[in-house]
Amino acid sequence: MDEKEQVRRAALYILQSGLVKGTWGNVSLLSGGKVYITPSGVPYDELEAQDIAVVDLESGDQIEGRQRASSELPMHLQIYRDHKAIRAIVHVHSIYATAFACMRKPIPCYVEDQAMILGGSVQVAEYALPGTWELAKNASKALGDRFAVLLSNHGAVAVGRSMKEALVAAQILEKSAQIAYLVGKNGKLLEENDIQYLRKVYIDSYSRKLEE
Ligand code: 13P
Ligand code: ZN
Repeated sequence: MDEKEQVRRAALYILQSGLVKGTWGNVSLLSGGKVYITPSGVPYDELEAQDIAVVDLESGDQIEGRQRASSELPMHLQIYRDHKAIRAIVHVHSIYATAFACMRKPIPCYVEDQAMILGGSVQVAEYALPGTWELAKNASKALGDRFAVLLSNHGAVAVGRSMKEALVAAQILEKSAQIAYLVGKNGKLLEENDIQYLRKVYIDSYSRKLEE
């Protein structure tokens, strides 16, 4: 499937699975030094492949597309520039993850699938206004080597080595936030060495079908 179609389908998927409402959120894919990204403020169910904007990763210039790239382009560019293994980014405003982002509290790591695909607890980026380079830098820094990060008073970002992986990460992120909320103060956290073991199993073998 070509890059624009992958982005179009991923955008429709986050809408249909309830991870975003309206036109908030955005999706991108990095391929051959170009970032394929959803346009700003266009309803996902009206998107056509030609609406997907194409941006040069190095210069940040839009080189294709009849619509303007997402207002969160700086955040997508910053994450790709700082984290070389990442090839897809899914920014959502899902309810439980956003609730943690509003409390400015990390999502603790209670469950094993979270340890595997997200790499542990999900940290919170310092607040900055949407669409700014400040938010881009805060998000990329707080992401570290994990596959998800929370944006204070805003939403969340999931990433992956492929679009398939980033979409599953976005689902596990929201599920982890729901579980952490339900567990409240009664949960028992996974041990740090078990989190590291599970992450390694995931990266080394379990994720092979999600990599491409
Ligand atoms: P865009 O419609 O410009 O992608 O912005 C939505 C959003 O979630 C901003 O943070
Ligand atoms: Zn947003």
